[in-house]
Amino acid sequence: MQKAGSVWDSVGNTPLIRIHSLSEKTGCEIYGKAEFLNPGGSIKDRAAKGIIARAEAEGKLKPGGIIVEGTAGNTGIGIATLACERGYKVIISMPNNQAAEKYQMLEALGAEVRAVPPCPFANQDHFYHRARRIAEETPGAVWADQFENTANAQFHYDTTGPEIWEQLDGKVDMLTLAAGTGGTIGGTSAFLKERNKNLHVVAADPSGSGIHDYVKQGTWTGDGGSITEGIGIKRLTANFDRAVIDDAMRVTDPEMMDMLFHVARADGLFQGTSSALNLAAAYKLGMQYKNSGKHIVTFLCDHGSRYASKVMNRAWMEEKGFNPQPIP
Ligand code: PMP
Repeated sequence: MQKAGSVWDSVGNTPLIRIHSLSEKTGCEIYGKAEFLNPGGSIKDRAAKGIIARAEAEGKLKPGGIIVEGTAGNTGIGIATLACERGYKVIISMPNNQAAEKYQMLEALGAEVRAVPPCPFANQDHFYHRARRIAEETPGAVWADQFENTANAQFHYDTTGPEIWEQLDGKVDMLTLAAGTGGTIGGTSAFLKERNKNLHVVAADPSGSGIHDYVKQGTWTGDGGSITEGIGIKRLTANFDRAVIDDAMRVTDPEMMDMLFHVARADGLFQGTSSALNLAAAYKLGMQYKNSGKHIVTFLCDHGSRYASKVMNRAWMEEKGFNPQPIP
């Protein structure tokens, strides 16, 4: 067990939970890395810690400094969580269509949130470009830039990968997960592939994201959209570029939503939409390798309570056309 420490010290070293129902259904061993147990409640606490630590080491972030970030929410929450103890101010640029709980949490943590309407990445009003401009215009500010700042994937290489390797005594056959910045898949796959060159890495991808087509055919294409939050990209980021990937799989929103309610009720794991998509990918992979006993690892990125205003809201579910069904 870890010694008593700060909020900063509490990032990482998360449990690896065997997903009982999915392991039984597939005859594989399916595990979820419980990143929702980080102090800020998501996988992005790791990126936040890696980015802040590097900025401090490079002398860019000084006591009383300001951190600016463009985020779908969780990286902002991770940064705001870690910034309190260290005395930094946080300014967040964020699309205005994310779950209400994320804005509330940022406000509770004392971050300044500047919400903007969602728009294509090429538009200079995209939350990412806005964050860069806010940092440029604010004296003493550092732009975290989770997409291109490789401290993100490096932190996963240094911590997430080794933790999984140790937790399974090196018995990892497959890794599947979706990417937002690519930090998690970048660092984790790079580390685990070095340890086991036969590891099979499958990028899971929601509708409308370009990762599936990029892995399969080298083009950043993909139609439609998804209600999942924090995942899906349509360009090559420096963090994603580090990933070592063998294959890709699409997961539809209805498949994701079926899984969200399945693991809540069968396993006691009420998870957010990206976790549900990851678990649906792990389940599909497990079905392809049925009864092989393979060890399949995925990520439980954040808790379902962060999306309760959507997924537990009957009117919202009906409006989006969701009618969750049991998993076969
Ligand atoms: N799940 C959630 C809920 C997220 O917020 C994010 C990051 N935006 C991810 C998954 C993807 O993680 P990464 O940025 O490391 O690819």
